[in-house]
Amino acid sequence: MLIVMKPEADKAAVDEALERVREIGFTPHEIPGAGRTAIGITGNDGAISPDLFHGVAGIAQLIPVTKPYKLVDREAADSQTVVDLTHGVTVGGDKLLIVGGPCSVEGREQLLEAAHAVKDAGGNALRGGAFKPRTSPYAFQGLKEEGLKMLAEAREATGLPVVTEVKDTDTVSMVERWADVLQIGARNMQNYSLLEAVGECRKPVLLKRGLSATIKELMLAAEYIFARGNQQVILCERGIRTFETATRNTLDLGAVVMLKRMTHLPVIVDPSHGIGVWYGVKPLAMASIAAGADGLIIEVHPHPAKALSDGPQSVKPKRFADIIDGLSKIAPAVGRTV
Ligand code: PEP
Ligand code: MN
Repeated sequence: MLIVMKPEADKAAVDEALERVREIGFTPHEIPGAGRTAIGITGNDGAISPDLFHGVAGIAQLIPVTKPYKLVDREAADSQTVVDLTHGVTVGGDKLLIVGGPCSVEGREQLLEAAHAVKDAGGNALRGGAFKPRTSPYAFQGLKEEGLKMLAEAREATGLPVVTEVKDTDTVSMVERWADVLQIGARNMQNYSLLEAVGECRKPVLLKRGLSATIKELMLAAEYIFARGNQQVILCERGIRTFETATRNTLDLGAVVMLKRMTHLPVIVDPSHGIGVWYGVKPLAMASIAAGADGLIIEVHPHPAKALSDGPQSVKPKRFADIIDGLSKIAPAVGRTV
């Protein structure tokens, strides 16, 4: 059930409703909105009788929830969620979020060069993996905490908030200490212990769609994070496995359209992993924004031929600037700014 509070309901009225949910043995989740507050209820197996809320004055409406995801569903909030990445950067509003940076942090010089290039081109946040979930155990696994420190230095130098992957529950607190946004990689989208752990964090989470995950499974993975109290979740379409082999993955732009209707959370696209080749990144980036995405995460490397991971899909700084130029033409057509 979803409790919709009256627009004029003050904190005392909301607290009274929250308390009533606890009294009847369930867990309330306060979801603030632009015009009103809603309270999602979890912990119940079946329908909840509206009679149990008798006398709680601030309640405007009780809506039965039939979907398996209750808190990330579009109806749970009265407005689009805007996630704050810090440093004045947000996603979910009119302005697009453009995250750029290398697949992996490979060293101080490489990262600082990439970070300055991303900043100069007009990117709003820096990406870079310090813990890399590689298909082969013999491939470069990342610089780990040293890499996180380099990301923090790059943030200091450029003012760009930092997005980096958290690969397992053991390192959540370490990554949370250094990063601004915790990325859950595609391979971990259904690592429920990890989802619960980042749900306990108070930094935004960038949740990437699993390689073979349905849209509903992605929504439910986001629900795991939300249910633990972290409401700062950004969804990311990054391509899925299909029978096609010419592209690394099949970028599902239909998922962007569906997710934008299904959830109040921001939705961004990773065209780099979506296609797997550098020359495909610009057209898919522009198509993603045209399809309604709230932003992009793009792999940028100063010397892609020397990259320790994902070189073939990484764009050079000049190309990244050209992509942003292309986006500045598409964005106004869909009511957005770069
Ligand atoms: C990455 O962002 O470099 C990455 C490993 O992405 P994904 O989890 O989508 O494969
Ligand atoms: Mn990568």
